[in-house]
Amino acid sequence: MRNVVIIGSGCAGLTAAIYAARARLEPLVVRGHEAGGQLSLTTLVENYPGFPDGVQGPELIERMQKQAAAFGAEFREGDVTRVDLSRRPFTLEIGKEHVETRTLIIASGASAKMLGLESERRLLGHGVSTCATCDGYFFRGREVAVVGGGDTAAEEALFLTRYATVVYLIHRRDQLRASKIMADRLMHNEKIKPIWNTVVTDVLDVARNEVTAAKLRNVRTGEESVLPIAGLFIGIGHQPNTDLFRGQLEMNEVGYLKTHDGTRTSVAGVFAAGDVQDHIYRQAITAAGSGCMAAMDAEKFLEAEQG
Ligand SMILES: Cc1cc2nc3c(=O)[nH]c(=O)nc-3n(C[C@H](O)[C@H](O)[C@H](O)COP(=O)(O)OP(=O)(O)OC[C@H]3O[C@@H](n4cnc5c(N)ncnc54)[C@H](O)[C@@H]3O)c2cc1C
Repeated sequence: MRNVVIIGSGCAGLTAAIYAARARLEPLVVRGHEAGGQLSLTTLVENYPGFPDGVQGPELIERMQKQAAAFGAEFREGDVTRVDLSRRPFTLEIGKEHVETRTLIIASGASAKMLGLESERRLLGHGVSTCATCDGYFFRGREVAVVGGGDTAAEEALFLTRYATVVYLIHRRDQLRASKIMADRLMHNEKIKPIWNTVVTDVLDVARNEVTAAKLRNVRTGEESVLPIAGLFIGIGHQPNTDLFRGQLEMNEVGYLKTHDGTRTSVAGVFAAGDVQDHIYRQAITAAGSGCMAAMDAEKFLEAEQG
């Protein structure tokens, strides 16, 4: 029987592990199919406090994991494949292993939706980005493009105008899905140049390990073109990793876990931290902050239970 199991090994899960391990709860961290989470997919992180020269994403994660292990956190590879939250102790399956736990911290993150191109995957963190707040600064004085037509794309494009000289907005339709207020702001910003009825078919240049251009196709005319850019931002939304909890925990309409009073979910003893419950900030530092909160909430819950 475990005191606490943590699902996920991104910034939220690892910070929860550091706090829970220091509180002598001997946490078990299930690392999941993307060990280290989203930061392990990126290169330089310049906005995590304490690193004035920046830090490579994978290095930051490795340091957090070492810190958690030093205090006694235990790690398992693989995904949690089933959970039963209907009674306590909660039960989980990690492949063939069956685990019982008094409390559960869910830090399974969210994945940015991608276009599905091989070049896009290979250049992620090398000019392809899913986060303007994180990476916009690297494109000072350059030309960039944002893909998408909803509020995510609109916000990313507007934010990027602080740095880039031109922001192309590539959308497969001839009008935006973004809210009217956002659409108006976009249309009145002279740095933003919409490219309508168009999809990205390839990102160049994998061989140079940097973005130099996007290959485009007009979906109406079939005409192909090459757009020289230094960065490509994918702004087509995020998908929280919550399928496992459907029907067991309250979620919003797109699947983000609902929390109240800190990190408490709709089931007592189950806490949620990081991007899995945050569709607004989605930063390493906010994920880490809520991981700390979840571990402290779990600790208090166990204490109250033991009376
Ligand atoms: C390319 C890129 C660059 C970024 N750059 C920055 C930056 O510069 N600064 C910044 O502050 N933020 C940045 N971010 C955002 C930041 O990475 C995220 O906000 C942060 O990683 C969220 O942490 P998390 O722990 O909530 O989730 P994630 O990092 O998404 O981790 C989720 C974890 O859950 C695990 N998991 C999922 N399902 C299961 C399951 N069923 N069983 C077990 N485990 C599971 C995964 O394996 C993973 O380990 C960037 C993101 C990306 C994609």
